[in-house]
Amino acid sequence: MKKGKLFIISGASGVGKSTVLSKVMDGRSDLQFSVSATTRPPRPGEQDGVNYYFVTNEAFEQMIREDAFLEYDAHNQCWYGTPAAQVEEKLQHGHVILDIEPVGAFNVQRKRPDATLIFIEAPSWEELERRLRGRGDTSEEQIAIRLERAKWEMEQKEKYHYVVVNDQADACADKILHIIAEKADME
Ligand code: 5GP
Repeated sequence: MKKGKLFIISGASGVGKSTVLSKVMDGRSDLQFSVSATTRPPRPGEQDGVNYYFVTNEAFEQMIREDAFLEYDAHNQCWYGTPAAQVEEKLQHGHVILDIEPVGAFNVQRKRPDATLIFIEAPSWEELERRLRGRGDTSEEQIAIRLERAKWEMEQKEKYHYVVVNDQADACADKILHIIAEKADME
């Protein structure tokens, strides 16, 4: 059977990535989401095995020793990693989307140069800041950390194959689906 294609999506905190991603996933039945392992605690509504595999530091470090990750990185004092076997397995059945930050994206690209890298960007810096503040669940200190990180992430966008602006979630998801269709149907 033909193997699926690998897509990597990155975007700074506050860019609206999860809404766009869920619309993208709804748009094609042959797309599968790669569920990462993380040591960060679940947020309300997040489910183990769906959003992430929520694991202990010990379990994560054991996976590192077993070379179980396609890539892994520390972010916000927590570990995040893409389980390699899961990606390979999913690629046998369709196309796979990874939602990972730029360090992880470039590490995967080194191992899988065929991966397509898509960067989701906010319409403007002011809008990103407004969206981050609008969440209401984030302290000023956290906002400052996230903005600093977002600035660095935005500087990485030149290294992505595609940059898609999220001024409207449906339109942004459609653009991503268009990119996926182009690549997925390519031999
Ligand atoms: P959050 O904690 O908000 O779900 O995710 C924080 C950041 O970690 C996001 O930028 C997300 O894309 C990234 N991330 C999620 N899973 C992985 C992973 O497996 N590897 C890497 N490198 N980053 C990840």
